[in-house]
Amino acid sequence: MKVKKYIAPSMPEAMQKIRKDLGIHAVILQSKEVKSGGFLGLFKKKNIEVIAGVDPNPIQTSEKKIEKKNVPTKVETVPPTNENDKILTEIQQLKKMIDLQQGEQLDDNRQEFQLALHHLLDQEVEETVAKEIINAVIKKRKKDEVLSYERVMSTVGDYIEEKLKPFHLSSLTQNKVIQFVGPTGVGKTTTIAKIAATLMLKKSKKVAFITTDTYRIAAIEQLKTYARILDVPLEVAYSLGDFQAAVEKLQDYDVILVDTAGRNFREQKYVQSLRETIASGIEMDTYLVLALTAKSKDIQETFDQFDSIPKKAVIFTKVDETTQYGSLINIPFTRNIDIAFLTNGQDVPDDLLACDAEIVRNFITGDARE
Ligand code: GDP
Repeated sequence: MKVKKYIAPSMPEAMQKIRKDLGIHAVILQSKEVKSGGFLGLFKKKNIEVIAGVDPNPIQTSEKKIEKKNVPTKVETVPPTNENDKILTEIQQLKKMIDLQQGEQLDDNRQEFQLALHHLLDQEVEETVAKEIINAVIKKRKKDEVLSYERVMSTVGDYIEEKLKPFHLSSLTQNKVIQFVGPTGVGKTTTIAKIAATLMLKKSKKVAFITTDTYRIAAIEQLKTYARILDVPLEVAYSLGDFQAAVEKLQDYDVILVDTAGRNFREQKYVQSLRETIASGIEMDTYLVLALTAKSKDIQETFDQFDSIPKKAVIFTKVDETTQYGSLINIPFTRNIDIAFLTNGQDVPDDLLACDAEIVRNFITGDARE
């Protein structure tokens, strides 16, 4: 990595120099206030010293080209490509069946319930959640009633729908300031642009942006591009003071959408700085953005990393890139939180859906109804 030190009177000026010199892929490694010049220790000038770096040979991540967009009414399963795949799938299913039979049993182990349980587990629904749902279905049926598999799945769908609360776009704007947090690359900035456009077009709201994501120059540039396209103001906040001043400056706007640092969420410093912003006295709602492409266990772990931050709801992105939807119920059922939006593609603003229980039901059950 090429690393250089910059000294400038302010952070924006330092960032400008870095962008010109190292390009937009530069990252800020460290920044601090320094005093220089002066005479006999007097009249020293305050400057900002920034250490920035850029990788001259970045590893190319091959971004998958997305052609297929999921419509939330029908869920397909990918057919095996050859005979070996088919056999492998069957062995995996057999193994799951044996594991299940060795494990804790359902309240009724008839085949239709076992099959429904397998379907949920295949969808990466957490075992405890899957069993809770199937046992609820077992409890609901009339005594000794024999249910078809379709009927079981239909009742599974009803149970899911009953447990999930709908999200209304109007509750998004209860607070003027709305902050979006989450790991790098999940799609925060893209989602913010989609939400901004939706609020402007559907609710005639006056929208403004603030970004506190000053770690990567490219991240600021990306939001700047959206700000230009949507013709909304963007303030860049390098400190808590800047953030408070930006919110003050944008008071005339109906909604202020805040993009946050795209750092590694495992760094406690990142979560800590988010907590400071939340504790700054400015009333705001925080949405946690998670990518549905991650494994169910990883999604839960990420959620828990943000445990100390009060969250209004979660947003799941990249729904179009997976066929396993278990987290859409694992998170609301086990972490007691609603899902506000789903995003299903890269197009701004079209690929944004207000999450409702029926969409989730269809994803999970594969639209199986009696
Ligand atoms: P951030 O680092 O969290 O701000 O993420 P970005 O907004 O920069 O998005 C990272 C990448 O994910 C970009 O290539 C986006 O186009 C892509 N992306 C965002 N949302 C979606 C989505 O719903 N589906 C797909 N397939 N890609 C998405």
